[in-house]
Amino acid sequence: MRELFVATHNSHKTAEFRVILANHFDEISDLTALSGAKEPVEDGSSFAENSAIKALAASNSLPDAFVIADDSGLEVDALDGAPGIHSARYSGDSATDASNRNKLMTELARPEHAGKSRTARFRCVITVAKGGQLLAVFEGVVEGRIAECMTGEGGFGYDPLFVPEGYEDSFGVLAEEIKNTMSHRGRALEKFCEWLKAQS
Ligand code: IMP
Repeated sequence: MRELFVATHNSHKTAEFRVILANHFDEISDLTALSGAKEPVEDGSSFAENSAIKALAASNSLPDAFVIADDSGLEVDALDGAPGIHSARYSGDSATDASNRNKLMTELARPEHAGKSRTARFRCVITVAKGGQLLAVFEGVVEGRIAECMTGEGGFGYDPLFVPEGYEDSFGVLAEEIKNTMSHRGRALEKFCEWLKAQS
């Protein structure tokens, strides 16, 4: 039986991993399966550093498991790449997805940003680890723009505000299967799958 451990408490992310990796693993679990498991402090200065911190922390506690961790976020050009690695806590320590989206809308509505391009991208870095060692790193990006208003109930985080290039609807409206074919996480996982195939 092939098992994968995902170093996250975010059930939305784990659900995306389960769908995309269904043909590669018999079982995919995450930190919610470990009672008392804490996520490490993400004090890296890039998605790659934070992804490695999470993968190594989980791998050190589960030395026999095949572990992956992702670090991801939204980069908005008009805000010089913010919220970037601070996407999860953009609106403060007790941030929620809704408060982060509201903060983003408020920032873009400021007079200094009015009329600027609303181009943006989601970026995801996935790190693979086993036995406390880093094995590989993969990056995926999806380009798009920040909509004027939120639409849809699907997905999580900034999905209701992000319209991928070539589409009129946000990730909050587009079906999960469509998001998975082009998302930053989907693209990074595609590279991970190619790597997995090459290992066997
Ligand atoms: P992480 O858990 O530290 O990687 O934080 C990622 C944060 O970026 C999330 O809390 C979301 O706010 C945002 N994010 C990452 N991926 C997505 C996505 O696929 N859709 C919407 N927001 C996302």
